[in-house]
Amino acid sequence: MSESAPPGPLVLVIEDDPQIRRFLRTSLPANGYHIIEAATAFDGLRLMGLQHPDLVILDLGLPDIDGLELTRQLRAWTTTPIIVLSARDQERDKIAALDAGADDYLTKPFGIGELLARLRVAQRHALRAAQGSNDPLFTLGNIRVDLVRRQVFVGEDEVHLTPIEYKLLTLLAKNAGRVVTQRQLLQEVWGPNYTSENHYLRIYMSQLRHKLEADPARPRYLITEPGVGYRLKTE
Ligand code: CA
Repeated sequence: MSESAPPGPLVLVIEDDPQIRRFLRTSLPANGYHIIEAATAFDGLRLMGLQHPDLVILDLGLPDIDGLELTRQLRAWTTTPIIVLSARDQERDKIAALDAGADDYLTKPFGIGELLARLRVAQRHALRAAQGSNDPLFTLGNIRVDLVRRQVFVGEDEVHLTPIEYKLLTLLAKNAGRVVTQRQLLQEVWGPNYTSENHYLRIYMSQLRHKLEADPARPRYLITEPGVGYRLKTE
């Protein structure tokens, strides 16, 4: 590495599959990231404390402590973004990891483009959280949300949202680009007694799409992550 080049973000990969580690070892540095690797949760925890990475990529199926438990342990003392890697049959663990504070997920097999997009979103979110950013305006394409006046516009036209629709939209906007689980949305918008009322989400997201999307049947921004939650797509 040349001395004048600013160091790229440091990514800690905690993954026991050597093939995936090899893939990340080649593709991440080619895109400006530095990586350190751990093949066990134990080693991952050690490197986390020693090297203070900017981002963590964490496999859910590890040989010693499983990734879900490791997410909980990490979240007890660090806010470093965590992207979990899950196999198709780890749906429940994946959702539990997100509810335990993981930032996002990728299902194996995944492509480098997808991973880079997740990393960028997680970095942006961490930066905004660190700066305590309270930008009063949120824009996405031709959708504009004025968080001070509580007004929403599509192009030049003001759109009237119900208080629930507005809360849902702003919660997704606060997490722009990241998946937000059904449980997180229900808990934040309706309250702790409503965390299994998934049909509320289907109804209100459909209303939001009709008010905000050019083609509500093929949403461009308000994306459903089947069985997991919703994502306000930003790129
Ligand atoms: Ca594994």
